[in-house]
Amino acid sequence: SATAKVIDGKSIAKQIRDEISVEVARMKDAIGVVPGLAVIIVGDRKDSATYVRNKRKACESVGIISFEVRLPEDATEQEVINHISEFNNDSSVHGILVQLPLPSHMNETNILDVVNIEKDVDGFHPLNMGCLAMRDREPMFVPCTPKGCIELLHRSGVSIKGKRAVVVGRSNIVGMPAALLLQNENATVSIVHSRTPNAEELTRQADIVIAAVGVPNMVRGNWIKPGAVVIDVGINPVEDAKSPRGYRLVGDVCYEEACKVASAITPVPGGVGPMTIAMLLDNTLISAKRAYNFK
Ligand code: NDP
Repeated sequence: SATAKVIDGKSIAKQIRDEISVEVARMKDAIGVVPGLAVIIVGDRKDSATYVRNKRKACESVGIISFEVRLPEDATEQEVINHISEFNNDSSVHGILVQLPLPSHMNETNILDVVNIEKDVDGFHPLNMGCLAMRDREPMFVPCTPKGCIELLHRSGVSIKGKRAVVVGRSNIVGMPAALLLQNENATVSIVHSRTPNAEELTRQADIVIAAVGVPNMVRGNWIKPGAVVIDVGINPVEDAKSPRGYRLVGDVCYEEACKVASAITPVPGGVGPMTIAMLLDNTLISAKRAYNFK
């Protein structure tokens, strides 16, 4: 029988979007400025198109203006850079996001380096990432997915200080910044990756587990310490003949097993996913407020 409390990312994200709406309206009333988010998407990956559509809808729902540039798969790196430069110079744009992954002929590093760090709402610029990693430095922005994970812990009343945390995965966009954030919150953090020989044993020591691997159901129930809190970042399509689309989404954690051992767990979908977008809106609001020194 399931014992874990389900951490409802969908409803927490809704609550955050409501808070953001209020702030967007307050700013507009006070100084006539509406936050703006620019999204650049290259190629026609289905998943990327869905993410971008969801981001646009989320902007609309809170009153943030969204700008969108769609480029064909065979666009050049320079074209992408030119659009970024335009948005860098556009005072109605407070956040710039390049939807990843980019087509393989483009160099992601060259492109992300061009985003003005004051508009880097994804938090992927190396200067922002570097500040996140250093003591006594503040990044302009914290990457959305890991920020959403921490926000879920805070809003579920999970204390982080002094806890043992394991992050499974070390990607630039999720695992690595998630580990840095947990450490900033005074957890003692281990990172498990594809070359970690004793992943299961290490993970079982954690009071807090964040899984971001991209391998369906990899973290089994016996990897979880009884009473641990589990945040599942994974979004993996697996074949499912019973689903109308022919597939369904599962996490990196085997939910049916883990929910019997953990004290709290995020579902997939409806856990971290909606939080990522809420944090993107939050970062855009933060950026607009900062641009006008609006408190
Ligand atoms: P990446 O593929 O960039 O990184 C995966 C990480 O997991 C790597 O560090 C890799 O290790 C590690 N890994 C892979 N296989 C194993 C294994 N068998 N054992 C231990 N570690 C392993 O993925 P992302 O971080 O971008 O995404 C992870 C998951 O999160 C995906 O399912 C993705 O769809 C989802 N996601 C969800 C978001 C959301 O909004 N909820 C946002 C972004 C991603 P190594 O470094 O050694 O290769």
